Amino acid sequence: MSLDHDERYSRQILFRGIGAEGQKRLAAARVAVVGCGATGSAVASLLARAGVGTIRIIDRDYVEPSNLQRQTLFDESDARESLPKAIAAARRIAAFNSQILVEPQVADLTPENIEPLLQGAHLILDGTDNFETRYLVNDYAVKSGVPWIYAAAVGSYAATLNVIPGTTACLACLFPDSPTGIVETCETAGVLGSAVNLVASVETAEALKFLVRAMEKIRHTLLSWDVWANECAEIQASKPRPGCRACGERDFIHLEGEGRPHITLCGRNSVQIHERHRPVDFGEMSERLKPHGTVRHNDFVLKFWREPYEMTLFTDGRAIIKGTTDTGVARSLYARFVGS
Ligand SMILES: [Zn+2]
Repeated sequence: MSLDHDERYSRQILFRGIGAEGQKRLAAARVAVVGCGATGSAVASLLARAGVGTIRIIDRDYVEPSNLQRQTLFDESDARESLPKAIAAARRIAAFNSQILVEPQVADLTPENIEPLLQGAHLILDGTDNFETRYLVNDYAVKSGVPWIYAAAVGSYAATLNVIPGTTACLACLFPDSPTGIVETCETAGVLGSAVNLVASVETAEALKFLVRAMEKIRHTLLSWDVWANECAEIQASKPRPGCRACGERDFIHLEGEGRPHITLCGRNSVQIHERHRPVDFGEMSERLKPHGTVRHNDFVLKFWREPYEMTLFTDGRAIIKGTTDTGVARSLYARFVGS
């Protein structure tokens, strides 16, 4: 069945801010969504339905049952199969809009791969859950002059900021350093699907304004809400901060990846190991691991259970080890069963 383009997008073309001309611009647009958890799912879904022509979805993780409460692109079968989120998202989007191109990338965005992964994107959208990746994206965006939209949600709180390099403040203008001390995450404080969807909707509306070039409508503030406490705040961000490390001094420390660890904690009692590109043959690896625990694999991930740990291995050799926050334990498990 081929759907008529004008019919499909008729309600959006009728909307004055977009019109037939805006719809054409959306079809020609290329956006990158970094992180496809709850925010990324909602943003990718809205953009795909709106007819954005090319959407690259970059995500390092796989679908788990605890994601289903808020990550709207995934279903129970994705969680049963531990499907990588980027792959599951692309499949779901293809089922409701086969007329756009989705490019799934199962990868952890790093200083080494950010260039090829984000190259050609007209706009970068934040769907991540950590400041490390956001500062990396901010450095790349400021250096290459590509706009990006920051969005975050935790508990009942959500915040978003449009960064248009050379015009507005950047993330490092507002937050020169990563938050220190105890930082609440979705694993510790939980998160409401409603807070996520609110921020994703605003992020998408701003993205559409940018893509149809309604530049005068773009918000120049850091906007935040607490949907439970009914609080809303706005901080001016229309000008770069003089002396900003990133957009002022153009000192891109995150892009240079100085001292970036290859083993990182990635929330929910797990550690990611990402030392080097090490292509893995899942058939061969399964045979090797069978005597040591339970193994299962599909085309995209291999899972290995050895009490009390669960290791998920991707085809490029990257692994997420669940059941520990001790990087030493994770490294030794990896070295023992995958290779050092
Ligand atoms: Zn700045």
